[in-house]
Amino acid sequence: MPAPNRRRAASRRVPKIGFASLGCPKALVDSERILTRLRAEGYEISPTYEQADLVVVNTCGFIDAAVDESLETIGEALERNGRVIVTGCLGARPERILERHPRVLKVTGPQTYAEVIEAIHEQLPPQHDPFLDLVPPQGIRLTPRHYAYLKISEGCNNSCTFCIIPSLRGRLSSRRIDEVLGEAERLAAAGVKEILVISQDTSAYGADIRYAPATWRDTHYQTRFIDLARALGTLGVWIRLHYVYPYPHVDEVIPLMAGRQVLPYLDIPFQHGSPSVLKRMRRPAHSEDVLARIHRWRRQCPDLTLRSTFIVGFPGETDAEFEELLQWLDEAQLDRVGCFKYSPVEGAAANELAGHVPQDIQEERYARFMERAAGISARRLQRRIGQRMRVLVDSVDEGGAIARSEADAPEIDGVVRIAGTGLKPGDWAEVEITGADVYDLLARRAATTVPSHGAAERN
Ligand code: SF4
Repeated sequence: MPAPNRRRAASRRVPKIGFASLGCPKALVDSERILTRLRAEGYEISPTYEQADLVVVNTCGFIDAAVDESLETIGEALERNGRVIVTGCLGARPERILERHPRVLKVTGPQTYAEVIEAIHEQLPPQHDPFLDLVPPQGIRLTPRHYAYLKISEGCNNSCTFCIIPSLRGRLSSRRIDEVLGEAERLAAAGVKEILVISQDTSAYGADIRYAPATWRDTHYQTRFIDLARALGTLGVWIRLHYVYPYPHVDEVIPLMAGRQVLPYLDIPFQHGSPSVLKRMRRPAHSEDVLARIHRWRRQCPDLTLRSTFIVGFPGETDAEFEELLQWLDEAQLDRVGCFKYSPVEGAAANELAGHVPQDIQEERYARFMERAAGISARRLQRRIGQRMRVLVDSVDEGGAIARSEADAPEIDGVVRIAGTGLKPGDWAEVEITGADVYDLLARRAATTVPSHGAAERN
């Protein structure tokens, strides 16, 4: 006789949702939350638009190219399915969506999980079956099994003149530290080996809730950046910190990096090296003497990897200010660098600034900047040749395994290519570096164990 839950399954039709997730890791985490909730309510996630009963598109609206991609994705979902709900950053400007796609069923803004779920319920009521609709305790994730993003806050209290995120995603709203640590603990227990901490402004974590105190694993913490780093460092997995601004209290995390409680890696979006441009950008911590701090950090933690992004051709950027940026870069010797040419975003205060830089000059500055950054990257990677290190394997192909070291975040940094086989995604490997190009390292598997630098990684 079939089990009762099987009988119930046979008599119901499971509603299926198609999903498209665009944009940054923060949007990806929003998508994971929506999908987790949908699975808990008994919805199935459809691999294709055609097989779905309706499609949710989580959009990005940060720059014009992202808006275009979002509008195209909505159009494709409408064409292939016909029933579409839109959410995410572009959802904060529903007129842009409805003007081009009036057939969209509903538009909700970023972080409006309840509204998205409500809209889905209206269109496609849930068929909940508690015997079947089990969701793993770590939720549904869109990243590979071995790494996960951990979002610690929403929104931002800064007002950088080129950015509209605060108007799209609201003011800083931090999750209490015990809630964040509980999620991190579940991820680690589910086999995640690397946790990437994300937010709009990680170093401001907790300021909006007056650094609320909380207890986790019998220890008292405050909801603040350094306590979070300390507590995450006890989990025995790689902890990588993104979107950190160089406020003075960031200095406190460097000893944790030197002791390998968290990875010696800081992702700091500096955006420029000229104080006058930074002032016009209204960047947080723009008056700090960042170069002196970088030198001090490297003395304390020589293996520290610094990643950053920059904007060239910001309104009013003079030749002298651009040269200042190049000099700053030479001094800072950053390991990983991304660069954007300034492009006006609808609604950004910088659009009103005088002296927009012509496109040909922007192109030329971009090329010069990237050439300089590539030279620094290549030289810094050469120093790794002959070193032994532990890496985490992301994928495997005919040429061998593609892995990442402590110095490489997924998607945005370089990789370590390991010759030979015998590894699978999610494996740790001990390797010896045999070569380097501009951004990536080549390696072979090391015969002996790499000495541990501190925190033991979970197998
Ligand atoms: S810190 Fe600046 S760039 Fe980053 S989200 Fe906030 S306003 Fe935008």
